[in-house]
Amino acid sequence: MKRTWVEINLSALRYNLRQIRKKLANKANPVRSPRHRQGIRQRQITSNGVKILAVIKDNAYGHGLLKVSQTLVKERIDYLGISDLHEARELRKAGIKTPILNLGVISCKEEAEEIVRYEVAQTVCSRRIADLLSKQAARRDKKVKVHLKIDTGMGRLGVFPEEGIRLAKYISRRKNLQLEGVFTHFPDAEDRRFTLSQIRRFKAFLRGLTREGINFIYQHSANSTAFLNSPETWLNLIRPGLILYGIYPNLYLSKKLKLKPVLSWRTKVVYIKDIPKGWSVSYGRTWIASKRERIAVLAIGYGEGYFHSLSNKARVLIRGNSFPIVGNVCMDQTMVRVNGDVKIGDEVILIGQQGDKQIKVEELAKLSKTIPYEIVCRLSHLAHIYKG
Ligand SMILES: *Cc1c(COP(=O)(O)O)cnc(C)c1O
Repeated sequence: MKRTWVEINLSALRYNLRQIRKKLANKANPVRSPRHRQGIRQRQITSNGVKILAVIKDNAYGHGLLKVSQTLVKERIDYLGISDLHEARELRKAGIKTPILNLGVISCKEEAEEIVRYEVAQTVCSRRIADLLSKQAARRDKKVKVHLKIDTGMGRLGVFPEEGIRLAKYISRRKNLQLEGVFTHFPDAEDRRFTLSQIRRFKAFLRGLTREGINFIYQHSANSTAFLNSPETWLNLIRPGLILYGIYPNLYLSKKLKLKPVLSWRTKVVYIKDIPKGWSVSYGRTWIASKRERIAVLAIGYGEGYFHSLSNKARVLIRGNSFPIVGNVCMDQTMVRVNGDVKIGDEVILIGQQGDKQIKVEELAKLSKTIPYEIVCRLSHLAHIYKG
């Protein structure tokens, strides 16, 4: 029996993918309300056949690279997005043939070799990267697919639009490179005004490419938030990550699409004792019992990824009830104030559902002043149990 583990509900993952597809299709499909007929018919042109690149970087956001990818592949996902070449190696070794895009950059010959070997499409945002790829592809007499990244406001990877045109021409002249896609990324898709200004810049760049007679298949920009907030960003491929896992970048976005959390995180009660009024709990003595209390010790702490900043803030579920964390979270132990029903060995929900109660990743992120992404990525190294 493990001290702590995560359960991954693969049917929730399939559900979320279907929800995303449904939303894409709704926009593409003609007419719900006659009032909007005109507008919808117009938009149909741009959104028809929007494909999905599922972002599975960082061990599928801590959910488990292989099981998540295999499930998505069975659902006929169009593309997989990684950020480290070991992910490509694992996917190809497992026999996955689905197109893969490396969203990160490569910086040396060895990495370029791997891109060619595993037939991965590569993000390109410099001549240096184009040259590395072109050289290795030529050596093996192969053609590498590349996606040119444009910086329209992210300030990270990517070239500015003017430079993008020159780089696109440069790529087109390399016979071992195929410009398969062009893309950009949003730093703050909750800000619709800024996002739409980025889209305008990106579309101007796309027109520039057309003028130059440069062809490519995919144009993409939408991450989870942009997908939920701004259909203008869908283009012909979307790149959702977080929402596939049933987590919202921000909880108010749950209005936009119903999703099911894929991950739940569990541990056990390993010790119980009663303490008298005035007794303190844990390091720093940040919590003092105001009356006689029953305290349960849980077999997790910040060493397992339960943030220290959740001390005296978060709650857990045991036997269908909600109980507060008291005192500071320790490296491998955390204390909870419980009632008389709780027993040693009881399962504890840190994230997930029990009875009619639920603890969301988004809630823990808010309490510990971080983002939901960081909470789940921390759980990568724990034991994973797959269901559904
Ligand atoms: C991680 C990543 C995504 C996915 O972002 P979510 O907010 O998880 O949907 C999309 N595009 C790029 C370039 C990324 O790095």
